Amino acid sequence: SARAWGENTVQLYSSAVSEPQSERLALKNGLRDALARDQLFIEYQPQVDLATRRIVGVEALLRWQHPVYGRIDPGRFIPLAEETGMIVPIGDWVLRTACAQNRAWRDAGLPGVKTAVNLSARQLRHPDIAARVLEIVGDTGLPCGCLDLEITEGVLIDDLEANRAVMASLRAAGVLVSIDDFGTGYSSLNYLSELPVDILKMDGLFVRRLGHGGGQGLAKDGRARPYAIAEAIVAMAHRLELKVIAECVENAEQLGDLDAMGCDEAQGYLFHRPLPAEQVGALLARQAEQAAMLAA
Ligand code: C2E
Ligand code: MG
Ligand code: MG
Ligand code: MG
Repeated sequence: SARAWGENTVQLYSSAVSEPQSERLALKNGLRDALARDQLFIEYQPQVDLATRRIVGVEALLRWQHPVYGRIDPGRFIPLAEETGMIVPIGDWVLRTACAQNRAWRDAGLPGVKTAVNLSARQLRHPDIAARVLEIVGDTGLPCGCLDLEITEGVLIDDLEANRAVMASLRAAGVLVSIDDFGTGYSSLNYLSELPVDILKMDGLFVRRLGHGGGQGLAKDGRARPYAIAEAIVAMAHRLELKVIAECVENAEQLGDLDAMGCDEAQGYLFHRPLPAEQVGALLARQAEQAAMLAA
């Protein structure tokens, strides 16, 4: 439609033209020593088990505090890091730091959780990516089953055969593998049945449509089954013996619908924003205390 076209144009304009080339270049160059200068850090967003409402995992999300431009969105600097290849050393650092943090929570006696780390296209194309991941996990002494690697559906299907091999060797070692942003990659569903994968992360696009009534037929406003895709993703995942995590859950109505569909886990602002590691540690400690009180 003309409106959608207009919106797209504005988006293109703002990213390609109104962002000063000099700033883009400065960010691109700045990424080179962002790591050495301690400008990168990680926030952790809790993932909640819907059956128990307990935190069972966290997703590691990379942040960049730039000395001049302030906090830069990963949506903006990750593509730059991909272009320059800096994503490879930065990605190694994220993995190592996130695994070490998980280990530190365990060593502090907190309830064990899994840590999800996002992998980029360029990292996956690195020939020894599986060996590097396993080396890092080994170094930090984390059980392999506590690491969950997220690969977006788009990246996954871009080079399906190569990625399948990487995923298979990681999974053989016990590392979990998730398909991120599931439902947005325009892939054939056929590949799913033979893929070495553990978890589907339902994209926020589908979650956003929930919570308006309509789970059992027509929506309150008369629209037909706005929930159909989310329901189908959960049902299909379970038939394939995969778990489903919903992302971007923002309100109780959406959560109610996900509960009704039998979705396994969820993350989103309704539960927690991405948080500094210390705050996650405090949440885990409180969770352990509550569990102890219930048991007593
Ligand atoms: P993603 O992996 O799909 O991560 C989920 C994004 O949704 C995060 O954005 C998170 O902050 C945001 N989010 C969480 N809950 C809600 C909610 O309730 N509502 C809304 N509207 N958003 C929510 P963020 O942190 O800006 O990251 C954006 C993307 O950048 C990530 O999407 C991921 O693809 C990429 N990314 C982040 N960290 C890394 C990294 O260490 N390595 C790589 N390769 N990519 C990363
Ligand atoms: Mg992710
Ligand atoms: Mg995602
Ligand atoms: Mg997403």
